[in-house]
Amino acid sequence: MKEITDFINYVNNNYLGEIKTNLSFKDITTLKIGGQIACYYLPKTLDDLVVSYKFLKKKQIPYLVIGNGSNILASDKYFEMVVINLKKLKQITQIDQGKFLVEAGINNNRLALYLAKQGYTRGEFLSVIPGTFGGAIYMNAGAYQTEIKDILKEVTYITSDGQLVTKVVDELAFSYRHSHFQDIKGIIVNALIEVELAKIKTFPLEKIYTLRKTKKNTQPLNLSSAGSTFKNPLSYEAWQIIDNLGYRGFKIHDAMVSMKHSNYLVNMGNATYEDMMRLINLIKTDAKNQYNIELECEWEILN
Ligand SMILES: Cc1cc2nc3c(=O)[nH]c(=O)nc-3n(C[C@H](O)[C@H](O)[C@H](O)COP(=O)(O)OP(=O)(O)OC[C@H]3O[C@@H](n4cnc5c(N)ncnc54)[C@H](O)[C@@H]3O)c2cc1C
Repeated sequence: MKEITDFINYVNNNYLGEIKTNLSFKDITTLKIGGQIACYYLPKTLDDLVVSYKFLKKKQIPYLVIGNGSNILASDKYFEMVVINLKKLKQITQIDQGKFLVEAGINNNRLALYLAKQGYTRGEFLSVIPGTFGGAIYMNAGAYQTEIKDILKEVTYITSDGQLVTKVVDELAFSYRHSHFQDIKGIIVNALIEVELAKIKTFPLEKIYTLRKTKKNTQPLNLSSAGSTFKNPLSYEAWQIIDNLGYRGFKIHDAMVSMKHSNYLVNMGNATYEDMMRLINLIKTDAKNQYNIELECEWEILN
């Protein structure tokens, strides 16, 4: 696509960040599945992103923003698009006691440790959610009874017409694994969070170690996955339904239902998009036929 070549030249000529043209979704997602992408773009600063985004929009080039690729299943086909990764935007700025302006590309675990080391509590759950802060906001990620929305005050994002807009958390339709961004597809660039000082300064770091241990003991963190595959339907746990259907350990080629946690569908090495989708659809069909339950996939599926 000529427009993508123009974009690459535009970024390079104006020093707007780094470009890579030899990557596939297999390289940039934790599931390690997916076809080649035409262009992978890493802006260095927010200004770089705003300027290059205007170029993308003007030339009508298809694009996708990703974080760490920890919640994505991509098809094995060729993606003629620009994949934007914000991982160079990772500043944390303290605004006031307990208030921090955080850029979207920071790794969740780094943010959790940064807060905990200063004695701030409420951000510990982020240490067990692989990925970036921006990806966590998009997904309203959560663990152990806390969701990202619980510490957010405001989010700033680029709208589809290139404007930078800030909205308070109540305007962003957060619910279980859902945010407004899934409907409007804006680019989250930073957010204001509020956390509080723990009564005992060492408590947050100790809590992080406990959460990590619990997670490691119950989930297959050593295998390629994208975390839990299905959302928990109202009043049920998805893993329980999958277990009752007899799928624990079931395989289609290298796509497998984890033995350790049956809501984790894992790639044992060479699983393809087709293998994983067949497994997902088989489980969904059985859940519907046998229990009249509609299982909804939590992953972002790119086809
Ligand atoms: C081992 C493992 C354990 C996990 N455990 C949990 C868990 O306990 N709780 C939980 O909630 N999730 C969990 N997950 C899923 C995943 O970590 C979360 O969904 C995480 O928030 C995804 O962040 P990411 O940066 O990797 O986003 P990506 O996977 O890169 O992207 C996910 C979606 O967010 C969009 N997106 C990313 N960044 C931006 C941005 N800046 N602006 C706009 N859109 C953006 C992408 O376009 C995509 O649609 C787990 C995953 C793994 C692999």
